[in-house]
Amino acid sequence: MLGSALRPSPGRDTADVAVIGAGLAGLAAAHHLTAVGLRVTVLEAAEAVGGRMATEEVDGYRLDRGGRPLLSDWPEAGRCPGLERLSLRPFTSGVLIHSGDRGLRIGPPRAPRNIRGGRAGAGTGARAAASALAGARRPLSDTLDLARLRAQLARLAATPVERLRARPELSVAQALSARGVPSRTVEGLLRPLLGALLCDPGLTTSSRVGDLVLRGFARGGLCLPAGGAATVPELLAASLPPGTVRTGVRAVSVATNAVVTRDHGTVRCRAVLIATGAHDAAELLPGLRVPDFHPVTVLHHAVDGRTPATDPQPLPHLLIDADRRGPVAYTMVTSAVDPSRARPGGTLVTSVVLGAAAAEPVGELDRAARAQLAVLYGVPTRRWGLLGAHHDARAVPAMPAPHDPWRPVRVLDGLYVCGDHRDTSGPPGALRSARRAADAIRRDFGISPFPEDEGRALPAVA
Ligand SMILES: Cc1cc2nc3c(=O)[nH]c(=O)nc-3n(C[C@H](O)[C@H](O)[C@H](O)COP(=O)(O)OP(=O)(O)OC[C@H]3O[C@@H](n4cnc5c(N)ncnc54)[C@H](O)[C@@H]3O)c2cc1C
Repeated sequence: MLGSALRPSPGRDTADVAVIGAGLAGLAAAHHLTAVGLRVTVLEAAEAVGGRMATEEVDGYRLDRGGRPLLSDWPEAGRCPGLERLSLRPFTSGVLIHSGDRGLRIGPPRAPRNIRGGRAGAGTGARAAASALAGARRPLSDTLDLARLRAQLARLAATPVERLRARPELSVAQALSARGVPSRTVEGLLRPLLGALLCDPGLTTSSRVGDLVLRGFARGGLCLPAGGAATVPELLAASLPPGTVRTGVRAVSVATNAVVTRDHGTVRCRAVLIATGAHDAAELLPGLRVPDFHPVTVLHHAVDGRTPATDPQPLPHLLIDADRRGPVAYTMVTSAVDPSRARPGGTLVTSVVLGAAAAEPVGELDRAARAQLAVLYGVPTRRWGLLGAHHDARAVPAMPAPHDPWRPVRVLDGLYVCGDHRDTSGPPGALRSARRAADAIRRDFGISPFPEDEGRALPAVA
């Protein structure tokens, strides 16, 4: 453990480790470090914790800034102290891929894994032609497509992570055409599903990442954190020692033993961990690699009262538009998965625009999205209220091949960096990079590392 002579004297402006950024990565790292008795200060520039995992409350609805569901197969969350009470709400009615006049339903997995929360309510509130499609007698070609996809998913679910990571690494698009899957199955099912899961409609992502994501989907399906994405960082922050997180404090420069802030003086420390997004990290550490990003725009609509409270056949919670007949890549009845996201009697529909279309002005996106959503859900959408729209050009770090999910987190003794850009994009990568960075700090401080990291186990995406 620490020699007391090495510790900076106690106080608000001293710490063993100064962490910059109170997103998922910074907060998780703070947990791993405080767990072994280190004094940690987390400096956050914004007035609230959470970074990109943000939720705003509008008119009784809880709107996530990022619109993507999580993979339920999320073992990294179980390794993070502070997330014991995290409740995840599963997409119990699976995913429906809408193509032409057909709707093919996948999942949900028979035995969802790693779901800690309760199950979603059965009533959906929104009526869908899609649900009728899902129940209709199917042409043989559709049945074959679905059977092929289900076989692929079952194979992936049973394949060990090590085997997937040993496969040749191409882009997802190249791998799909190289693997001999009929193009009808690729275009009609796999491409839209993977585009949505990866926020990457061009499928430029590394095929290893694509395989791991699809494996996670096949094993556990999808879920949403109960109460909104922000509940994840809020849980982490609330269970840190009081005073650990300081919001409204922007770091402007770093050394191995100090952080200079814009308006709050200097924090002296024995180590600095930069847990910001990639661009902010490169401002503090010039020369740090900054990846490209996939842009995302999220539209949140409140559905008017015309939809029945119960459906004879539950609406699939997530609809993917394989035909791309408008800007929306996928749309979900968020309040059907997590009723706490809508005010009583209300229904919240969240729709996600990916790729170049995400940069279009919100007014145009909303207009075009309503027409598309009317087809997908089979109900008029004119009276749906636009509750919020959020565009983020730097939402998801791109992971083209070759992608190294073990990007170094130790810059030098006393200076470390973590965040989703050092691992795989998304919350699991942010958490795992935090654990790796905390582990590097603990080693440099002479504290024994996490037992599970000693063998440098290969990471799953979740
Ligand atoms: C619109 C949108 C859609 C998304 N969709 C998906 C998706 O579909 N799939 C997926 O996997 N992931 C998605 N994400 C990404 C996911 O939210 C992130 O992977 C995850 O939240 C990253 O956490 P982090 O801690 O690495 O970084 P961040 O959440 O970015 O946290 C960094 C923190 O550092 C703070 N900070 C920055 N500079 C300073 C400074 N100088 N001083 C002090 N503090 C500073 C910031 O304010 C921020 O709070 C999406 C994000 C958005 C915004």
